Amino acid sequence: MESEISFDVYSPVQGIIKNLKDIAYKAFAQGCLGPGLAIEPSEGCVKAPFDGKIKTLNKSQHTLVIENSGLEVLIHIGADRASLKGKGFKAFCTERQEVKKGQLLIEFDKDFIAKNTAGNLVIVLVCGPQAAEFSLAKKGSAVKYGDLIFSVNGMQSAEDIAVASESLAADCGSLITKEVVISSANGLHSRPAAAIAKAANMFRTEQIFIFKNSKKANAKSLVEILGLNVNFRDKVEFSAQGPQAEQALKAVLEATESYGQNTQYSDDTNVPVPDFSKEVSFKGSSLYPGLVIGRGAVLKRQKMVIEEYAGDIARESDKLQKALSSVKDKIEADIISCKDNNRREILKAHLVMAGDPFLKEYSARLVAQGKTAAFAWNSAVEESIKILDGTSNKLLKERKADYKDIGTRVLVEITGCNVQDFNFPPDTILITDELLPGELSRLEGKISGLIMANGSQTSHIAIMLKNMGLTSLICAGPAVLLIPEGANIVLDSTKNIVKVNPADLEAYRRESKEVNAMRVKASETAFEPAITKDGVLIEVKGNAGSLQDAVKAQQSGADGIGLLRSEFLFSSYRREPCEEEQFEIYSEIAASQKGKDIIVRTFDTGGDKPLPFFPLPKEDNPIAGLRGIRNYSLEPDLFRRQVRAIMRVKPYGTAKIMLPMAGFIEEIRQYCDIIKREQASLGIDKVYIGMMVEVPSAALMADIFAGYVDFMSLGTNDLTQYALAIDRGNTYLNKFSDTLCPAVLKLIYNTAQACKKAKIPLGVCGAVAGDIQAVPLLIGLGIGSLSVPGGLTAEIKYLIRNLDISFCGDLAVKCLNMQSALEVRNTVRNVLNL
Ligand code: PEP
Ligand code: MG
Repeated sequence: MESEISFDVYSPVQGIIKNLKDIAYKAFAQGCLGPGLAIEPSEGCVKAPFDGKIKTLNKSQHTLVIENSGLEVLIHIGADRASLKGKGFKAFCTERQEVKKGQLLIEFDKDFIAKNTAGNLVIVLVCGPQAAEFSLAKKGSAVKYGDLIFSVNGMQSAEDIAVASESLAADCGSLITKEVVISSANGLHSRPAAAIAKAANMFRTEQIFIFKNSKKANAKSLVEILGLNVNFRDKVEFSAQGPQAEQALKAVLEATESYGQNTQYSDDTNVPVPDFSKEVSFKGSSLYPGLVIGRGAVLKRQKMVIEEYAGDIARESDKLQKALSSVKDKIEADIISCKDNNRREILKAHLVMAGDPFLKEYSARLVAQGKTAAFAWNSAVEESIKILDGTSNKLLKERKADYKDIGTRVLVEITGCNVQDFNFPPDTILITDELLPGELSRLEGKISGLIMANGSQTSHIAIMLKNMGLTSLICAGPAVLLIPEGANIVLDSTKNIVKVNPADLEAYRRESKEVNAMRVKASETAFEPAITKDGVLIEVKGNAGSLQDAVKAQQSGADGIGLLRSEFLFSSYRREPCEEEQFEIYSEIAASQKGKDIIVRTFDTGGDKPLPFFPLPKEDNPIAGLRGIRNYSLEPDLFRRQVRAIMRVKPYGTAKIMLPMAGFIEEIRQYCDIIKREQASLGIDKVYIGMMVEVPSAALMADIFAGYVDFMSLGTNDLTQYALAIDRGNTYLNKFSDTLCPAVLKLIYNTAQACKKAKIPLGVCGAVAGDIQAVPLLIGLGIGSLSVPGGLTAEIKYLIRNLDISFCGDLAVKCLNMQSALEVRNTVRNVLNL
């Protein structure tokens, strides 16, 4: 049933025509969406290509569909702009609006879009119904608004197609459905929607629908799918009916999944409940080391009652404005009174967030629709969190807690309710999924330890916890939230473990007492050198990520700083710290060590350590991607500025340079050369260049690397990650991740042998250096220097003074040939009573 009409489509933009087949966006180039063309715009305007009605206008305002007499034309601006969430686009039309040919529909900032996405091409194509004949009308490539670009002849009407397919499908097979949560970051935007429509259209007789709440879309129609406005994490239901319903459903689900990993809807209640009548252990990642015994309490947040509808728009708008300006004033006052650099930077970031135009515009729009200020603000915050969650950028995801924090501050202000006051019995170990910066301020001094189900080493909350020195463990997994209220808990973050209802609590109490007694003795001798019973000096240095850490390390007897994580110093900076600024902070940290050296690791960005001023491209597998030294070729001047700032610290040579993540000789050669050139230009006589050994290739080729550097330090956290192929942040696998696995010990031993032969010092700066069961093995394998979290130096020195290096050497060699980390640990426990 084809209609006889012929339809002309006129150019909606001005620019240069490109063949659709030649463009980079696969979904368009492969014709999944329909025939059409692309235009490289010379101006940032989209005008109506014919008289018609706007059928859909995407929320991000970069895609619209205009229709007339059954013809539907999609106009799509840019690549991957869904992630811009409307930034750079301004629509001058609304859905269902009748428009005239040449009428302005969208303005877009073509340069901004080109800069922030993969391109700014405008795609114009026929998306429905199937055109019988499509003919390009434009000869030559330059095109002006209103030039005829193509014609469509003899198409079917949408209604005809629907009627035909529905009648064919009637009474054929039963209805099957599947519910999924959408995990494609931008929801069902054009490309996943096109893939679904394409898959659905392979099944001519089946009826396939997608349901979102009460709305329904024919899965064969791209326009209807787009009109459903499905976002990341939305729960939708797919249904299929017809003879091949099962295959059809499978095909559309696969098409959906190819744009994200859809999961059956699940929440934390699906986590299996451990049997807490017995001892249960959890492994996590230490944020701040310590051993505390206490009773568990899961953090409960007060729920605010938020009314949706308001009586008076003007009053609600005023309430929102006042609450926002009051919160901003309070943050500004906090910034002025804040003495801690890191905390001040976090507060500055919060001030920016409180003024975020997205939050402002989104909430203002809802207020104008008659919603309460509280409802509008809360919805805006939830929406922004959803957006951050939908990105693949770890740094942005980590800022969710900050947005929640600001969200709560403003809500408290709007509703006038009291800020939740936290009170716990003594010795409480708090358990929570996450913690907001504002909550931590109110918890200070009220808890003895913290266990987090999630978390990250680089979030704002992590920085604050480390500064505070609260024994805390993160990434312990969702099951910790099920720990019964008041359960006995041993939190040993030094060993990365939590024990609930430990079988022998008394033994832990004794251990804790002994640890405390030992700590007292250790602290009395903290400033004495760590010399083994048989006379070998082992240096015990401190790890630091801030001036405060460095001071703390010095005060607990550290022999200098063995690892200054320079990226942590500037983790809240939005711009690169200049050479002078860096020079000042490195000098201050060096001075805090009272004559001892500091080892400054150059920026180790990427993977689990994003730096706001060092953006990196999106990678599928960032842990095995752009990290540490591999990034310096992206910003060679930034590297140059940093090494200049380090080597300028006086006396020269006090601040040593250490390169992270080196795995190839070429990298070491290249960056050592740059450092030496900068050294010559500064006229500095003494510079020490070292490398971290944290990539297995570096450990295995340590003999060759040793010819290029002055010292090495084993980054055992990463070395273990790469040797065992377990992402160090993976909460499911971390129970298998142990540096004492003989495979990792062999890498350490190989490195130690190479350094011995080359006569260069070798240290360990990963967490294992502070693990009391590991210390005898490390020194036994030939490690001469351990760098541990600041608070542990005195204890590790104390332990070393009670060890005999030749005994440790024999023990270590035996361990190299063992079968597992568990066997190694049991041996150390039995032989050395550790
Ligand atoms: C390591 O990998 O062991 C290390 C010390 O570096 P970081 O933990 O900062 O990656
Ligand atoms: Mg590392």
